[in-house]
Amino acid sequence: MGRRAIDVEALAAGNRTALARAITLIESSRPQDRADARALLSAVPDRTALRIGLSGTPGVGKSTFIESFGLMLVNAGHRVAVLAVDPSSARSGGSILGDKTRMEHLSRHPDAFIRPSPSQSALGGVARRTREAIRLCEGAGYDIVLVETVGVGQSETMVADMTDLFVLLLAPGGGDELQGVKRGIMEIADLILVNKADGDLRATAIRTVADYAGALRLLRKRSHDPDGWPRAMPVSALDNDGLVEAWTALQQLTDWRREQGVIDSVRRKQAVDWMERELELGLRTRLDADSQLRELLADLRISVADGAIPAEAAADIALDRFLSRQVGPETG
Ligand code: GDP
Repeated sequence: MGRRAIDVEALAAGNRTALARAITLIESSRPQDRADARALLSAVPDRTALRIGLSGTPGVGKSTFIESFGLMLVNAGHRVAVLAVDPSSARSGGSILGDKTRMEHLSRHPDAFIRPSPSQSALGGVARRTREAIRLCEGAGYDIVLVETVGVGQSETMVADMTDLFVLLLAPGGGDELQGVKRGIMEIADLILVNKADGDLRATAIRTVADYAGALRLLRKRSHDPDGWPRAMPVSALDNDGLVEAWTALQQLTDWRREQGVIDSVRRKQAVDWMERELELGLRTRLDADSQLRELLADLRISVADGAIPAEAAADIALDRFLSRQVGPETG
């Protein structure tokens, strides 16, 4: 990343090139870029969007759904940003989420902004980048931010921790074993949408919706839900069927949570959790930036591996050394 200044005014006015450049800046881990990124994040206007997480396994229809759902939203006057989170993209050497042919119509719409997943492997880095990208999209005036993730590992929980609503997209069928959907994922879902409820698959999709609705009723009632939630509904992203109903339902849930103060309290908690994680990330970055400490850590790793020093004692030695070095050469 060159030292090209980001045009904050253009970004605030919703300029997509300025927003894309700003996200490139926050994706960089170079120390100078991080400093610029922090300055940028403080300079963007303090606006907020409805943040919606969306998850589903590859092939379930995420791109098709976002294309149809996004177009419906922009046609209703919303400005929609789509951020993809794909922690597997570094490993597979090319993200399916980065495919340029995805969401062809939505990506050309002036009120939509689509950003593929960066090729970063560490979940911590992806989380930071996504949080900061959400903030930038909000600053650029997008009032709905969709954060899409493939159903792998911990990425759903990570996305749920930075959004207001979480939508799980599923395929019809396989209701018996509930498609191996992990209980943890069911517990964070606000709305389950069974996609491809069209043609020959429609009847199966309706049955699948009933299966999931039943499974959702068995979960412990959550304090941040009105009666009847979480819900399961059928949609066809391909035929544009059920999307209005899904959006209406999501708006009802959002309105209820706003009135109850749930959105606000969840966001306060998310912000504090994020500060704690930044603290850990920042400490780690500073430890690694200290060359003497790096040497000490390399030695300590060998000693710990050999069983010569207990792990926690080694961590204490490193931390004590680091902290004493922070005091400064005159006093320390
Ligand atoms: P993703 O990998 O989750 O992003 O899935 P895609 O959006 O790429 O869709 C995977 C396949 O499912 C494609 O062949 C789509 O045309 C198809 N598909 C997506 N949505 C629907 C739908 O609502 N109905 C039907 N019949 N097919 C769909």
